[in-house]
Amino acid sequence: MEFSRSTDEDAFLETVRTFARERVAPRAAEIDVTGIFPRDVIREAAALGLTGMTLPQSVGGLALSYVTYAAALELVSAASATVAVILSVNNSLVAEPLHEFGTDVQKENWLRRLATGDALGSFALSEAEAGSDARNQQTFARLDPQGYVISGRKVWVANADVADVVIVFAATQPDVRGRGISAFLVPLDRPRINRVPSPDSLGVRGLGCMDLHFDEVRVGAGALLGEQGRGFKLAMRALEGGRVAIAAQALGVGQAALDEAVRYSRTRVAFGQPVGNFQVIQFQLADMATDLEAARLLMWRAADARDRAPRATTEAAMAKLQASEAAHRAADRAMQILASEGYRRGSTIERLFRDIRAAEIYQGTSEVQRMIIAADVLG
Ligand SMILES: Cc1cc2nc3c(=O)[nH]c(=O)nc-3n(C[C@H](O)[C@H](O)[C@H](O)COP(=O)(O)OP(=O)(O)OC[C@H]3O[C@@H](n4cnc5c(N)ncnc54)[C@H](O)[C@@H]3O)c2cc1C
Repeated sequence: MEFSRSTDEDAFLETVRTFARERVAPRAAEIDVTGIFPRDVIREAAALGLTGMTLPQSVGGLALSYVTYAAALELVSAASATVAVILSVNNSLVAEPLHEFGTDVQKENWLRRLATGDALGSFALSEAEAGSDARNQQTFARLDPQGYVISGRKVWVANADVADVVIVFAATQPDVRGRGISAFLVPLDRPRINRVPSPDSLGVRGLGCMDLHFDEVRVGAGALLGEQGRGFKLAMRALEGGRVAIAAQALGVGQAALDEAVRYSRTRVAFGQPVGNFQVIQFQLADMATDLEAARLLMWRAADARDRAPRATTEAAMAKLQASEAAHRAADRAMQILASEGYRRGSTIERLFRDIRAAEIYQGTSEVQRMIIAADVLG
């Protein structure tokens, strides 16, 4: 494993740290309160290259290692979990699979635009009856002489409010569960695609989540992404990267919670002294820091595997599981340390406490990650 970074990568992360502190953090509360997709912040992030971090420079990307990409997302997430998720979807779930599996024409049309933020992508796998059981696709794509006709309903599609293109999964051979699923790259301005706002959410508000209704949507045969019938594999490969990114997103929230708890422990006085003088508080802080650092090492390991190994499935599952749960514990403990000050609506901890919960749900619940890890352990 190699976690060292070049001087250029260190300089890049310094730029991201400044961007997160000066441009993202001041907007976090407003994004949370309004739930409006932060287009202008994403535009600024794109200008720094954050919409195409791992893509080659030849298509407008930054060609960063996954380790550096994850570190950048963690910094952004400490300022706003929402902004980090938006970027992670574009990078890991759309641009990367397009780069890996797309035809020359698909790449020509979309890759540079996605890398530079000129276009934004979304990823539509989940359905009302296909969440953890993602193979149970009820969206169908029928092949006819003019191409494919897609019908079905996708739920909770992040970025879809403003996205220009979606990778949508549909059964092309409904009788062959899992193996009969294909992926399609579809511009969202095609006729007969309806965007319906997803339900309001507890946290990570402002993701632009939409339910997408495909009503006999015609796409050319050139919309097929990867091979017909291999869409589930493509989704799992994309989610490998996505889970490393969600580990980073969770860690950003967890670290922000720890930082808040440390700050408050130093300043809040009770019984004539800062509460940080009490050993029970110190031990809480020590446990939070250790828990998060363990998660960070797993995240780096998974990112490194993503850079070097053909597959990083188990590593990514472990990283996401540990990071999302450690960050949840950190937010919970920080809430206890800040007590009424944390519980106040509008406090930073209150937002972090709500924001972290989704990391144990999206891109595979904690139970799904444990199923992946258990399958590997049992061989
Ligand atoms: C904010 C947000 C953003 C999202 N963004 C996207 C997106 O951009 N694109 C997209 O495609 N999807 C997205 N999703 C959907 C998300 O991926 C699903 O919600 C998730 O996969 C879980 O599916 P579900 O909600 O249907 O839960 P279910 O699958 O119904 O699970 C219910 C419960 O049962 C458990 N469970 C299910 N099966 C098993 C089993 N075999 N063994 C043990 N336990 C099990 C689950 O872990 C969970 O606790 C998003 C969701 C949210 C909340």
